[in-house]
Amino acid sequence: METVKYLLDETDMPTSWYNVAADLPAPPPAVLHPGTMQPIGPADLAPLFPMALILQEVSSERAIEIPEEVQSIYRQWRPTPLYRARRLEKALDTPAKIYYKYEGVSPAGSHKPNTAVAQAYYNKQEGVKRLVTETGAGQWGSSLAFAGALFGLEVLVYMVKVSYHQKPYRRALMETYGARVVASPSEQTAAGRAILAAHPDSTGSLGIAISEAVEVAVQREDTKYALGSVLNHVLLHQTVIGQEALAQLELAGDYPDVVIGCTGGGSNFAGLAFPFIGAKLRGERDMRVVAVEPAACPSLTKGRYAYDFGDTAGMTPLTKMHTLGSSFVPSGIHAGGLRYHGMAPMVSHLVELGQIEPVAVQQLETFAAGLQFARAEGIIPAPESNHAVASTIREALRCKEEGTSKTILFNLSGHGHFDMTAYTDFMAGKLKDFEYSDEEVAMALAGLPSVG
Ligand SMILES: *Cc1c(COP(=O)(O)O)cnc(C)c1O
Repeated sequence: METVKYLLDETDMPTSWYNVAADLPAPPPAVLHPGTMQPIGPADLAPLFPMALILQEVSSERAIEIPEEVQSIYRQWRPTPLYRARRLEKALDTPAKIYYKYEGVSPAGSHKPNTAVAQAYYNKQEGVKRLVTETGAGQWGSSLAFAGALFGLEVLVYMVKVSYHQKPYRRALMETYGARVVASPSEQTAAGRAILAAHPDSTGSLGIAISEAVEVAVQREDTKYALGSVLNHVLLHQTVIGQEALAQLELAGDYPDVVIGCTGGGSNFAGLAFPFIGAKLRGERDMRVVAVEPAACPSLTKGRYAYDFGDTAGMTPLTKMHTLGSSFVPSGIHAGGLRYHGMAPMVSHLVELGQIEPVAVQQLETFAAGLQFARAEGIIPAPESNHAVASTIREALRCKEEGTSKTILFNLSGHGHFDMTAYTDFMAGKLKDFEYSDEEVAMALAGLPSVG
């Protein structure tokens, strides 16, 4: 069976990012200062981010121009291909049409360079010399390391300790790009030392690593912090994905009934879905939009919509989001990029507005789906992306049961070449499901900050 691939010319690459804030019926709740609990202004964020990114964070302009220098770097791998998954459709014997947007063709192997390059560009423009960040499984760290190398910026990465030891090749990738990698919690920061004093064997979490990175970033004028998901400007940069997909589906003469993405902090999902949600909000088109999260880290399906910190030490501003509590330390599922306690405030807001359906899937179902996908389509998905694959397979099988033909579009956010241990473990029957019990949810949520 022939492969069907929809390519755009370089000249058809989007020249602006799409800002969903322009189409919202109601703005999301204000971001609060962690000390005063009052709404923050741009100046409060200045120690952390360059002003251009802060202005994007609070912008309600619909189209924000992509700087020419960023576009010229994007062109190395963008526009990314859109595939029709004909062989997977056949394997599932479904009347559904399945399309996937493949972001694994970037140098770092995922969607994350879309924002890493933009962030490095604006930091460079404003005279920053060093970027500090955290990384879980290493995808964000390697994307920022790549972008830092292009712009001559130093990059320091706090990597969650369990991944630092389990994923030596991701660390090697960051170091190859010239970044320095430190296992978190570390002795280098007050936040790290406090955790180690209380839990000497701590294997770390994204929340802890963020605390360390933020602490280091605010200490030096020439250093800023960079975040790979969750924030409005990060989601904004990812919207090249959905805009390209819209144009590619037009080439295919098709339009999705269902749009699906996996959600850790929400950025690849938002990147694909927001341009479609915009069309829905403007009353132009209608479709279902599904956000897929791990059952072991179920912020959207079991968390509370409340004000919370982005990190464990309580140093970041407070945002209203679906959260499991900033003290939450997730179980060791292999989709490291999805192990975050909170969700992007903009995604949370759209869930509250009824624009997004959240679903949770278990680890074993996601790997079974990934194997089936790899054997049909040839691409080995990242464990995170397998959540979107699993949900797509569920939808396609439902079409078969109901005898309806729907068009499904999902985001294949990255490849799994650095995650083969997880696949090996799955095939050897060593992986298991983790159910996150209601008692555990209640316990983690008990520590939420009180906001009047
Ligand atoms: C980081 C990552 C994710 C999760 O992050 P989001 O911000 O929710 O997109 C998903 N897939 C891949 C391949 C990743 O690297």
